[in-house]
Amino acid sequence: MAGLDNNFSSNNDQFVSRRMRMVDQQLARRDIRDNAVLAAMRAVPRHLFVPKKQRDEAYHDGPLSIGRGQTISQPYIVASMTEHLELTADSKVLEIGTGCGYQTAVLLEITEYVFSVERIESLFDNARKRLNKLGYSKVQMKLDDGSNGWPEEAPFDAIIVTAAAPHVPQTLVDQLADSGRMVIPVEKGTSGRQELIKLVKTSEGITERSLYEVRFVPLMGEIEK
Ligand code: SAH
Repeated sequence: MAGLDNNFSSNNDQFVSRRMRMVDQQLARRDIRDNAVLAAMRAVPRHLFVPKKQRDEAYHDGPLSIGRGQTISQPYIVASMTEHLELTADSKVLEIGTGCGYQTAVLLEITEYVFSVERIESLFDNARKRLNKLGYSKVQMKLDDGSNGWPEEAPFDAIIVTAAAPHVPQTLVDQLADSGRMVIPVEKGTSGRQELIKLVKTSEGITERSLYEVRFVPLMGEIEK
């Protein structure tokens, strides 16, 4: 309606149409094929996971710096990492690096069994409040160093790490179920470059392949020692 641009619902409609366009242009027209992932990306209000003054940029084709050294990943990367987890509605998933909780919400659109670990208290508190407010209240969250995973809840069908590790942590591999999948950004030596690794646990052992180059904030804590 004319003159009602600041009205919440018309504003919201505008974000909805930007989000539908984001899914068509940035995801479906590239190589995202999993319908559950596309539906999740259509459902989660990404603009509500960034600071108010950055809402206009929320559906851009890139990552955003959202203060205190924190980032929200590019929509394509969130979708692609989620697709590689090969989730079904009853998958049990561990996420390391909750951050603003956007990736967490995408996972929760697909399965209700999501366990997410964040080591910075203020980020943890904000993400918990935001997820609850948006109705993602089934999430299980822990304030801790995620390098140790969540042993009491293992094994997991899928593990997603959204901070770059110096190497794949054996502790996390140990917490994967049989046929479990893990996606994790790993630093390439001291080059400052990172590659996204997909690891699958099979009866014959672990298979590992490099998917593509990525840029994530470092995974901190025990893993650095
Ligand atoms: N998943 C987010 C991106 C998070 S940025 C998204 O949806 O956009 C990476 C997050 O990992 C930061 O919040 C950082 O504090 C957290 N992190 C870094 N090292 C960690 C560790 N050892 N355990 C848990 N979280 C960690």
